[in-house]
Amino acid sequence: MKPENKRIVVVTGSSRGIGAATAIKAAELGYEVCINFVKNESAALNVAERIRSHHGKCIVVKADMSKEKEVIRLFEEVDKKLGTVTALVNNVGVVREKARLSEMTGDRISDILTANVLSCLLCSREAVRRMGISFGGNGGNIVNVSSAASRLGASGEYIDYAASKGAMDTLTIGLSKEVASDGIRVNSVRPGYIFTDIHANSGDPERVEKLAKSLPMQRGGDSREVADAILWLLSEEASYVTGSFIDLAGGR
Ligand code: NAP
Repeated sequence: MKPENKRIVVVTGSSRGIGAATAIKAAELGYEVCINFVKNESAALNVAERIRSHHGKCIVVKADMSKEKEVIRLFEEVDKKLGTVTALVNNVGVVREKARLSEMTGDRISDILTANVLSCLLCSREAVRRMGISFGGNGGNIVNVSSAASRLGASGEYIDYAASKGAMDTLTIGLSKEVASDGIRVNSVRPGYIFTDIHANSGDPERVEKLAKSLPMQRGGDSREVADAILWLLSEEASYVTGSFIDLAGGR
């Protein structure tokens, strides 16, 4: 394929859950994929193996997306091994045990904001520097994986996490306007209860099963349903969509 026709996507946090489903779907649609993980190498290698077994192209990069030097290193590795990135999915996101704000430590709050917000800002910056027409790029796409929590607030559970997703939503709105004339679209998905490992980190691995019946659609979501929306936002079919949000929360 000619270099100018290549589609190259960085999916942060793509060893498991929504990120893994997005990486696999992107490869099925012909993207070359940078799979990123921070701890679970075997999960990341499984995603790579699935992609390669269907003749897709991918690289696997271990990097903590909340650390500036590691973000820069990941994007430089993509430059060298795949080419100039054309799409970024800011998927990294972490949550901690359920707690009220009055019980949270400053370190916990800082960790959540760093992992969820700083990572998104740093990765978006690196992508804009490569995709932006004013930087010599050909334009591109960014999708931020936010959460229904940004609308609902997660009171009594994890308002630190909800606030971090609210910051991501503001970033989606602001950056979409800032880089529209640079040929870059910026959009967001806001999932609700999706079956992934993240709920174990909040101390409630059965969370989705327990709460699913309270939703209008009475079921939890599958990572692939979120991946489908992300890939649509990245596609030409969404060519006039920017600064937009797709809520995937079963009607909540
Ligand atoms: P998950 O199953 O817990 O997977 C998290 C992924 O992020 C893993 O691949 C993990 O890598 C990676 N990761 C975590 N911190 C990282 C860091 N600092 N640098 C690089 N990679 C890192 O999560 P998920 O449920 O798929 O969530 C994905 C996104 O969707 C998050 O932004 C989350 O907030 C959002 N979301 C999820 C739900 C839900 O119900 N699942 C609902 C709303 C929004 P390792 O494998 O190496 O640990």
